[in-house]
Amino acid sequence: MDAPFPTDALALHHSLLTMDTHIDIPWPTGPDPFEDGKRHVDLPKMRRGGITAAFFAAYVPQAARTPAGEAAAFARAEAMLLAIRAMGRSEAGIVARLATSADEIEAAKRDDVLAVVPAVENGYAIGNDLGRLARFAELGARYMTMTHNGHNALADSANPRTDLGDREAEHSGISALGRAAVAEMNRLGMLVDVAHVSRDSMLQLAECSRTPVVATHSCIRALCDHPRNLDDRQLDMLRDVGGVVQITAVSAFLRPNAKPDTVTVADFADHIDYAVRRIGIAHVGISSDFDGGGWFNGWKDASESPNITAELVRRGYDRAALTLLWGGNFLRCLRAAEARAE
Ligand SMILES: [Zn+2]
Repeated sequence: MDAPFPTDALALHHSLLTMDTHIDIPWPTGPDPFEDGKRHVDLPKMRRGGITAAFFAAYVPQAARTPAGEAAAFARAEAMLLAIRAMGRSEAGIVARLATSADEIEAAKRDDVLAVVPAVENGYAIGNDLGRLARFAELGARYMTMTHNGHNALADSANPRTDLGDREAEHSGISALGRAAVAEMNRLGMLVDVAHVSRDSMLQLAECSRTPVVATHSCIRALCDHPRNLDDRQLDMLRDVGGVVQITAVSAFLRPNAKPDTVTVADFADHIDYAVRRIGIAHVGISSDFDGGGWFNGWKDASESPNITAELVRRGYDRAALTLLWGGNFLRCLRAAEARAE
C-alpha cells in the first residue's frame, strides 16, 4: 500500500493561490469543460485539485505564411479566445470567472471561485498585422507565445519545420516585425512568452521587452537536452530581467526521450530544484501543458495537483516558497506588464 497522503500538505495546497500557466483546449469540439470527462483539465478537476487559475491558450498550429493562412490563423485564435472567455460562467454547481488581471485572479481566490485566464500560443496568429494584438488584448489574452514549432514572421522557433521550408535560422533570432510586436505587446500590457522560441530569439526578446519575459511552459536543458528547454545562460537572462520559467509536465522535456508513464513527480521537482538553485525562488513557477501533451505518472490531470505540493514540501519548500512557485512570481510578472501598459 502507498504511504498515506500527507494531510497537512493537502490542506496547505488548498490554501494556496495556485496557477497553471499553460493549458490547451480541445478544438474545434471537445468534452464540456464543466463535466468531469476525458480532458486532463476541466473545471471539476481544477476544483478537486485545488487549482485557482488556469491560463487557457488559443493555440494556432504553424502553417504556410500566406495571407489566406494568416487570416485563417487569426480567425481561429479569435474564436478560441471567445470559447475560453465563455468558460467563465456558473454551471453544474461550479463557479468559474473570467480573470484578466492579477487583481482579478486574487479576487477569484478570495471568493473561492475558479479563474479562467485567456492567452494566445503562436504569433503566427497575427501574421504581419500588429493591429491584431489589440484585438487579442481586448479579448483578455494576457500573454502571447511568440512562436510554436516552425519559424514565423516574428521570430525563429526552437523547432524549425523543414516541411514548411524552414532553415535552422531565418531571422537569426527575432525580426524587425517581432521587435515591433514586443513594443506593441508592452503597450497593451500583454506578456511576451518565450516558450517555443529559439535560443537567440529568447535572448533577444528578453533584451528588447520593457517588461519581464516569461517561459510559460519550458524545462531545464542541463537536466534534459531538448531544444524546448532553457540552458543556464537563458535562465540567468530570465533572472536578470525579472522573468520566470514555468517548469512544465511534458515528459520528453523532463527526462530524455521519456514516456509519460515512466516520469514521476520527483523528476518534475528536480527541474524546479535546479532552477531555484540557479536563479532563485523568485523566478520559477509551475505549468502543466495539459491537453497539449503534458502529463506524467503522479500528475495525470489537474485533480492530482496536490501531489506536486506534497513533493515540494518533502523537499523542504515552505509556505512562502510554495506561494511564489504556484503563482506569486507569475502574478508579479502580470503586474509588471499591467504597470507598463499605456
Ligand atoms: Zn506549447
